Formats: sequence, structure tokens, C-alpha cells
Amino acid sequence: MNVVTRFAPSPTGRLHVGNIRTALHNWLWARKNGGTFLLRLDDTDRERSTEEFAERIGEDLAWLGSAPDAVYRQSERFGLYEAALERLRADGRVYPAYETAQELDLKRKIQLSRGKPPVYDRAALDLTDEDHARLQAEGRRPHWRFKLDHDKPIHWYDGIRGEQDFDPHLLSDPVIRREDGSWLYMLPSAVDDVDMGVTHVVRGEDHVTNTAIQIQMFEAMGAVPPAFAHSALLVSSEGKLSKRLGSLGVDALKEEGIEPIALVAKLARIGTSQPVEPVASAEPLIEGFHFECFGRAPARFDLEELAALNAQIVHRLPYSQVADRLPDGMGEEAWEAIRPNLRTVTEAADWWHIVEGPVTHQASPEDSDFLTAAAEVAEELDWSANPWGALTAALKEQTGRAGKQLFLPLRQALTGRDSGPEMAALLPLIGKAEAVRRLRG
Ligand code: GLU
Repeated sequence: MNVVTRFAPSPTGRLHVGNIRTALHNWLWARKNGGTFLLRLDDTDRERSTEEFAERIGEDLAWLGSAPDAVYRQSERFGLYEAALERLRADGRVYPAYETAQELDLKRKIQLSRGKPPVYDRAALDLTDEDHARLQAEGRRPHWRFKLDHDKPIHWYDGIRGEQDFDPHLLSDPVIRREDGSWLYMLPSAVDDVDMGVTHVVRGEDHVTNTAIQIQMFEAMGAVPPAFAHSALLVSSEGKLSKRLGSLGVDALKEEGIEPIALVAKLARIGTSQPVEPVASAEPLIEGFHFECFGRAPARFDLEELAALNAQIVHRLPYSQVADRLPDGMGEEAWEAIRPNLRTVTEAADWWHIVEGPVTHQASPEDSDFLTAAAEVAEELDWSANPWGALTAALKEQTGRAGKQLFLPLRQALTGRDSGPEMAALLPLIGKAEAVRRLRG
């Protein structure tokens, strides 16, 4: 089977961790199967959709390394929806209705007060030709509803949720087109899934009821419904995803120094039985991607955990992958020395300052003789071997100092800080002349 997946965001805002995760699931599944991953901009809402957001969505996906194979815009496909509506209308599967939002609201309240499910009562189906003529003469324009087949129980096997059953009596016939001719999400999405040969619809579980309805739409259009998989929602460790965390997007994560592969590694695996691992590329994630591994419980997203994963990934990044983001002059040796101390690549610049200097440190009086001795020893050392090993061994012998007493004053004088990268790696980078200068204070 030629697998086709699609990610269908509305360009009414930036992507956030929740829908980035959905995008990745679709991308991973397409890649795993050698299939096609589509970006389909759900921009039927002309007022809220913007070109700016459409472009940003494309850029964000590219940053993640999951650029789509093709991009479609629903706003360029209205003719298709129009034609589908006409066909469904001819088959008696869509009908006009005139109730206002208030009237519908009132109906719902009455139903609820009687302990009934708030399902649309299909009153519009009883309208006669005269009723239609009268309503239209009053200036009322109809909206359009899709007529669910009440005699056909809805069933599908969900890749994540397993067997799913819906009783169509408990669903309202969905409004698919508004009075002003604008389209709601439901029908265009199903029309496009058919037209684009989408084989797998992978999205959040907030769409489960939509799926039940869309399955009947596929069937009404004479198409075989695609396979569905609905992932459990993302929550934070404390529960519901906060507004801040929920709206967290690529810009903010970039700012935090998060590598795209860290985000991909995290979002590909949370909510599954597979471990989140500091992978170097998406290959193992693609390889291991299975819907069967997804749990039905909400997936926990935690920024601190992402930052920790990011650090693990940074510790393994080869120089070639970061060279263009490092300060001028910082070479491979320096990167490898400094890398284990970083949480983000940008932090490398801080450590590079230590190598380049100037470093200022005020030694305490009890260390000043010790540091003078250290400078003298350093001056005589062969810097090409292991200057840190040689320096500390000689000083230990000479002064009797050991442990912290031996190492800390040296580190402080040489770096201006109490902790940091391995001194053994740092010292060759600092160089002999500069090291001696710093030890002299
Ligand atoms: N625009 C819809 C959303 O972002 C698309 C849902 C779908 O994947 O069909 O929720």
C-alpha cells in the first residue's frame, strides 16, 4: 500500500507542542512506510487564516526536519467541496436548515432539561416547499447539514484506541456549510482525504467524534474510509497542559536552545511504551514507530525533561553538526572538551570565553604562594603531553596539597569559576602562556 498521511493545521496561529506532535506522528508513519506526508492547510476560515501563519507552519516543519512532500491549501479547493455537496444533496445526504444559533441553543436546553441527549431534532427535514419559500422570502438563508444514516452503526478499528463503536442516533447531523457559504471543517476534510488518497488519518483524540461522522461521509461519497489512529492528549506533569506550555512553539523552544532532534525524539515517544532516548537522528524513531506502542492515557510533557534530553543530545553532537553555530575560532578539540558541560549549544560561547579570556579571579591569601608555585611549575612543563596531569602531580609532590585544596584554587585561577569542563581538556586549549599568566593573577 502506498501510505499517504496528512497534517491539517489551521493557519490561524503558530504550531505548538500538541500539534507538532501530531505532525510528527504523520511524518514518522509516512517515512516508515516509504509513503507521502502532506501538509494540508485547513484555511477555509478566511478571516482567521493568514499567509504569515501558513508560512511559519512550513518553516517550523522544516526546522524539525519533517518538511512535507507536498502542500495543499483548502482555500484553493472550494470547487471540489461545492461539487461534493451537490452530489450528496442529489443523494439526499445533505439538507438545508434555518435555525438560528439561539433557536438551536434553546432546543438543546430543553432536551437537556428532559434528560435527553442534545442531538439536533432534524426539524428542518419536515419543512415543506412552502416553508422553504416563506423562510427565504423572509430573507433567511439556509445552512447545510449532513444527514447521518441512523440505520448504520458506526464502527472502526482505531490504530491506538482499538475497536470504536458509535450509535449515529446519538450524534447531531453536523452543519457542514454556513449561511454565508463558508465551510466548516468536517466535509472539506473528508473530501480532501478521498481526493488525496489519504490512507491514514492520525490526529488527537479530540477528533474521535468527528471521525465517527466522517466515516459516514466517506461512505456517502462512495469511498472506503482511511485507517484512523487517535492519540491521547498531551498533559503536563501537574495535569492539564498550562496555557504557557500548551502554546509553546518552535520559536520559544529555539530560544531555550532546544535542538530540533531533541523535540522530535521527545514528541515521537511520549505517550508510548517506548523509551525517550537521546538519538542522533530521526532514523531510529522512524524505524521503531508503531501505533501499537501508544498508550491510551494522556502523554506527559515536561519542559525540564525535554531540556535534560536536549543536554544528552548536545553531549553527543559531532563538531560537524555545530561548527557554524560556535564562536569564531572554536575548533573541534575545544568543542569536544566543552561539550559535556553544555545543556545547549549556545552555552559553548560562555565556555569559549574561558578559553579565550580574559579571566579574572581574586585568589585568597592562603592560596597565593601555592599559585605562584603553580605558575613556576607550569612554565617548565611540556604542554604537548598532559599538562593538567603533570601540573597537579608536581604540585602535589611539592606542596603536599591534595583533593579540593589542590584542584580548586587552580581551577579558579585558570577559569575564574568553581566548576566547569574537565581541566585536562581545557588546559591545552588555554595554552601555556595564558595559563601561566592566569596563575600569576
Ligand atoms: N484543522 C484540524 C485540526 O487542526 C484538522 C483535523 C484533522 O486532522 O482532520 O484540528
